Amino acid sequence: MRIGIDLGGTKIEGIALDAAGSTLLRRRIPAPRGDYDETLAAVVRLVQEIEYELGCVGTVGVGIPGAISPASGLVKNANSTWLNGLPLGDDLPRRLGRPVRFANDANCFALSEAADGAAAGAHVVFGAIIGTGTGGGVVVDGRGLTGPNRVAGEWGHNPLPWPRSGEWPGPSCYCGRTGCIETFLSGTGLARDYAEPGSSPISALEIATRSQAGEPRALACLDRYEDRIARALAAVINLLDPDVIVLGGGLSNIERLYTSVPERWGSFVFSDRVDTRLVRAAHGDSSGVRGAAWLWGR
Ligand SMILES: [Zn+2]
Repeated sequence: MRIGIDLGGTKIEGIALDAAGSTLLRRRIPAPRGDYDETLAAVVRLVQEIEYELGCVGTVGVGIPGAISPASGLVKNANSTWLNGLPLGDDLPRRLGRPVRFANDANCFALSEAADGAAAGAHVVFGAIIGTGTGGGVVVDGRGLTGPNRVAGEWGHNPLPWPRSGEWPGPSCYCGRTGCIETFLSGTGLARDYAEPGSSPISALEIATRSQAGEPRALACLDRYEDRIARALAAVINLLDPDVIVLGGGLSNIERLYTSVPERWGSFVFSDRVDTRLVRAAHGDSSGVRGAAWLWGR
């Protein structure tokens, strides 16, 4: 049995998969926001409950927002900032009495979709999360790419490529720079692009709904969004040339992306034709937690 834990900012989710990848049990608890010790205790309780209920012991993989620094063993880059700088990579294995594998949550997402999701069987997969933030992960032949800095696939904090008028220097980003892809392609970025001065912002999915109803402002906004994501993904294709790009996160539910973005990215990819497939995640919200379980391979 493989247990996956997805350590989110608002919830902690646990899943148990059998050897074939079928779900045996799934459980979701609120994340103890701001409290590292409580977070640790909550994960341990969740694993114990799963094992007690199923009557067997499993491997444990954990998806985290951010990464465990190979140099220090401490959490870094987590937007759940109460985890940053703390030794989760030592504390959790000790508390559980077994080795634990950790990976960035976007890497878990990519791993899950490459294992038995929308990109099953593909050689090189780029998984991109477009939601609250814009994470990314790379899987090659079923294995997540990590690298010495644990940042492989972190496209969200690259600058938006081929900037158009008005896009440079771009909005400020929490990472300290401006014009990051995330500031344009996250849900917040889309909402900001739509917002009229003085009116209250609406959600990204509401913008998509209004575009379906033919509202000109929403249509123009989605048009800019698609142009931007096409440029951002074209840069990924030029660098990595993945067979499949899988989109996950809330904004991946905008149906028109899957036709309009491949129609646009050809102008930016350095090739006479583009055979990369752009697909929507097959496991939806479960991808992250499933990928965490798959950290202990097949
Ligand atoms: Zn940034």
